[in-house]
Amino acid sequence: MRTVVITGSASGIGLATAEILRDRGDRVIGVDLHDAEVVADLSTVAGRAAMVEDVRALSGGTIDAVVANAGLALSSPATVAVNFYGCVATLDGLRPLLVGSSAPRAALTSSMASLMPHDDLLVELALAGDESKALERAQELVDADLGALIYSSTKVALSRWMRRHAATPEWAGTGIPLNGIGPGIVETPMTADLIASEEQRAAMADVVPMPLNGYMQAEVPARLLAWLVSEENTHVCGQLVFVDGGSDVVIRGDST
Ligand code: NAD
Repeated sequence: MRTVVITGSASGIGLATAEILRDRGDRVIGVDLHDAEVVADLSTVAGRAAMVEDVRALSGGTIDAVVANAGLALSSPATVAVNFYGCVATLDGLRPLLVGSSAPRAALTSSMASLMPHDDLLVELALAGDESKALERAQELVDADLGALIYSSTKVALSRWMRRHAATPEWAGTGIPLNGIGPGIVETPMTADLIASEEQRAAMADVVPMPLNGYMQAEVPARLLAWLVSEENTHVCGQLVFVDGGSDVVIRGDST
């Protein structure tokens, strides 16, 4: 039986992924603020460290896969703390527990928002690893009425972090495929208020074009995450796989 850690397991995409993996016989260690095997706040350094220790204790020291998925879509510095630093700390912190697995895998949830306008300085500061400076920059964006750039910036940083690390000795060199997914709009509690009315849906369609099949249920990206962390994935490495109904194609055209 494979043991898989999923962050953000209490809701939306994380919950759907946990259900798919449990149905196929995996053991899931869910991590969330509530309703999870490991209750932890990934927005804080102490919460991230406690999460790693709790997973180590519950798993006995070896896990087979990590899905770093927890996220926020608030226009606030907390979104940087959870989406970027919480995700990176999850992957870095749990990587040593993957080393004992015969088929270790890791995946993170980025977003098609990584294709949207973002703040280069926030991306740079996040990747430089100085959390307090990155949070300060996020607050500056809020104060300048540019808070909407925070979410996309965290997802740009996360996708770049994944690309920078996937082929390194710590990941590919240790036999761990590290990949990400880039969902379009998924109908979860995160987006409920954004797409509640027909008017909102029409306005959103201008920003996030999804010509194939429209908005999706959480099971759709969850199935992709479940495959990326399965034993079947032996050679997909460092890819940000868009599951977005065509947003990426519309936005980026034929650039590869
Ligand atoms: P959701 O709100 O349904 O679930 C997010 C989960 O993360 C919640 O259970 C929440 O409690 C948890 N979480 C938030 N802050 C946390 C913290 N500090 N510590 C631990 N857990 C925390 O949202 P979702 O739509 O399922 O989002 C999951 C991921 O998918 C996020 O990374 C999000 O950015 C990404 N995403 C979502 C969409 C979408 O349209 N819903 C699109 C692209 C990417």
